Amino acid sequence: MLDGRMLPASVLSKQIGKPEKEIYYHLDQIKRTGQLVIHQAECSDCGHLFKWRIKVQKPSRCPQCKGTHIEQPWFSVALKER
Ligand SMILES: [Zn+2]
Repeated sequence: MLDGRMLPASVLSKQIGKPEKEIYYHLDQIKRTGQLVIHQAECSDCGHLFKWRIKVQKPSRCPQCKGTHIEQPWFSVALKER
């Protein structure tokens, strides 16, 4: 599903047909294998980068400028070399 592509969780949710909550659960599983590539959420106003954590699924407000124009994080999976 994620092979070589970067997708936000909301799109994955629609394409797979499962709730975002479940998507995040799976992403966390992949993260444990060290293969998850995260394009961090970014504030469109000041460029502040959010560190992605499973608990903070969707940052809604920038801690730096208090802006609410947050780009959601995108995810991809780094394939292990065989
Ligand atoms: Zn900001």
